[in-house]
Amino acid sequence: MRKTTFVKLKMREASFISRALISSRHPVLAHLIPMRRCNLACGYCNEYDHTSKPIDLEIIKARLDKLANLGTSIVTISGGEPMMHPELDQIIQHIRTRGMIAGLISNGYYFTPERIKRLNKAGLEYLQISIDNVEPDEVSRKSLRVLDKKLRYLSEYADFHVNINSVIGGGIKNPDDALTVAKRATELGFSTTVGVIHDSDGTLKPLSAKEKSIFQQVKKLGNKDHARLNWFQDSIAEGKPYQWRCRAGARYLYVCEEGLVHWCSQQRGYPGIPLEQYTMDDFDREYNTEKWCAPTCTLQCVHQVGILDNWRDPQKTPEQMAKEQKDRERVDDMLKAD
Ligand code: SF4
Ligand code: SF4
Repeated sequence: MRKTTFVKLKMREASFISRALISSRHPVLAHLIPMRRCNLACGYCNEYDHTSKPIDLEIIKARLDKLANLGTSIVTISGGEPMMHPELDQIIQHIRTRGMIAGLISNGYYFTPERIKRLNKAGLEYLQISIDNVEPDEVSRKSLRVLDKKLRYLSEYADFHVNINSVIGGGIKNPDDALTVAKRATELGFSTTVGVIHDSDGTLKPLSAKEKSIFQQVKKLGNKDHARLNWFQDSIAEGKPYQWRCRAGARYLYVCEEGLVHWCSQQRGYPGIPLEQYTMDDFDREYNTEKWCAPTCTLQCVHQVGILDNWRDPQKTPEQMAKEQKDRERVDDMLKAD
């Protein structure tokens, strides 16, 4: 990434952070899914299929316009594998035209010099690739050996920020792989983060002594800002729940390929309202609702967004929220009757 582009991105991020600290009434980050299809089939993933069609560009643009009108700061395109969408460049251009930061999450398989140059031109600002292991196995082919050539292309041609995420825990066979991946990422000039994941049965178990030591080493190699924002990972690494306020459905939005707003990729169905009908009443309700899944949540980006408001606006349980809503409706009915 060129120095001037890096400085511009940092300045834009700083202005979005100040805006988010001053006002809590707009989304900070939205993940938008332009197609569910993926070229891979990772054993742990519930976010892909092999058959669905790309969503029409005009429909995506309308969703981006709605996100911009809600005041969203950052839109990250995710999937499935979003690089399979034939109009990805136009989608990125539209995010930039509407003044939002444009990000992309990809498995890295489709990067060629020509494709990277097109993404530069479209205005992509950051990219994240997760690499699960060094050698492909039956669970994941997001592997350093397969992707190394793509990473070299990115190092040479990308004019956007590249972050490589490695993972630890959850029965990943070789914990050393996370360190190998992180070292290679820094060698190529990328930032690096590490995700701590649940055990395969979804439970929270402490990392083994070896995993903990590798986790600390990878964190040291990584982006200092991310390490500061990811305190929750220290609790998860110890197998302990972490208390925080998840603002999904408000400050963070997950918009699926059908255009429905969900809390996140792991809690699809709540609230499940079409984005075009999403109002600030929906935003306020979700902002103020305590999420039952928060103490064991490992989703880094939603935690990071949550930090902006952790110090303000305590949340209520869904039962308290429902009771308050009923009370409000009763008062409204009485006023109407009067
Ligand atoms: S590459 Fe990503 S979307 Fe595709 S199967 Fe693997 S984890 Fe899921
Ligand atoms: S706590 Fe985590 S899993 Fe639960 S809604 Fe928030 S982001 Fe999703």
